[in-house]
Amino acid sequence: MFDFSQRISQLPPYLFAQIDKKKREKIAQGADVIDLGVGDPDIPTPQPIVEAMKKAVEKPEHHRYPSYEGMLSFRQAVAEWFKRRFGVEFDPQKEIITLIGSKEGIAHFPLAFVNPGDVVLCPDPAYPVYKIGTLFAGGEPYMLPLREENGFLPDFRSVPEDILKRTKIIWVNYPNNPTSAKATREFYKELVEWAKENRIIIASDLAYSEMYFGEDKPPSIMEIDGARDVAIEFHSFSKTYNMTGWRLGFAVGNERLVAGLGKVKTNVDSGQFQAIQEAGIAALNLPEEELQRIREIYKERRKVMTEALKEAGLEVYPSDATFYLWVKVPKGYSSAQFVERLLEECALVCTPGNGFGEHGEGYFRISLTVSTERLLQAAERIKKLRL
Ligand code: PLP
Repeated sequence: MFDFSQRISQLPPYLFAQIDKKKREKIAQGADVIDLGVGDPDIPTPQPIVEAMKKAVEKPEHHRYPSYEGMLSFRQAVAEWFKRRFGVEFDPQKEIITLIGSKEGIAHFPLAFVNPGDVVLCPDPAYPVYKIGTLFAGGEPYMLPLREENGFLPDFRSVPEDILKRTKIIWVNYPNNPTSAKATREFYKELVEWAKENRIIIASDLAYSEMYFGEDKPPSIMEIDGARDVAIEFHSFSKTYNMTGWRLGFAVGNERLVAGLGKVKTNVDSGQFQAIQEAGIAALNLPEEELQRIREIYKERRKVMTEALKEAGLEVYPSDATFYLWVKVPKGYSSAQFVERLLEECALVCTPGNGFGEHGEGYFRISLTVSTERLLQAAERIKKLRL
């Protein structure tokens, strides 16, 4: 009776519907299915964060509307954390904004800067929200392929002149979901130079900044000279502190870009519950050992699963960041076909690479966010695969 808007109707079909159906069938047959599909940490939120929330929730001042841009004390804690982690200073009043999870900010940002017909450069494969936020704003997504031979970095210099002229924003995300690739400071430096030359906004998604397992900590684009003139960066508490359910994030960067996002948000939401922001302050001040403990768990899982995949003859993209493994499907299979075989023979749910865009075809993603015990079982099943 009521037609969906064109905005909704233009959305791509839900690619995982078939997998979900097969997963349900498999479970109905009595199979012990292990789901390595979703990137939602199984490890609980660290206790000091939960305790801070318990105290904060008792305070009547938090029961009223929060401030739109977030509590100043939260934004100050963000500024201090950013200085400690990346050596970059921000004015908490003007260059930092609280988000209701980083997805919220990523989806809303194009509404502040994109007019109908403007182009937004989106990576492919990628987290789908860059493209969808663009479409909702009436913009035209132009997909930049991430190819293995380029370390899954976009070749932004290859964008044709006529597209470039209409481009408003470029999205980048490193450490990357789904490929687990990392970016170097050199890449960011070239990107900032190019963006300045072409008057393009850089929107960087750093949701996985703390999910590293080697010596090299992933950099922020904000460390680069001149980035503050053109860039905004989105951060999340979800993965770092196992807080996906809490919905907390923030954006930092260029004052005007932060203000534009703030203008949209003022009109569509009323900020995040202040008790959650207080819990966020506790998270930002967590002792480093606590995060190291979490990293050690993922590091071990990454090792176990990588070895199992290699033993089965599969090729894993080498990385020491994110809790994802990006794996090539064997010759002769499409991503969807191989993921189906993993479900049939091993009762494992994995995400086909093409679910993240056409350039994800030929790969599948494994998420390491199930208990180590389950992951070991999954690894045993994979080792028995005959390819
Ligand atoms: N960015 C990337 C690359 C993600 O993978 C995710 C979640 O999976 C998000 C952003 C959103 O995280 P949240 O909204 O929980 O902060």
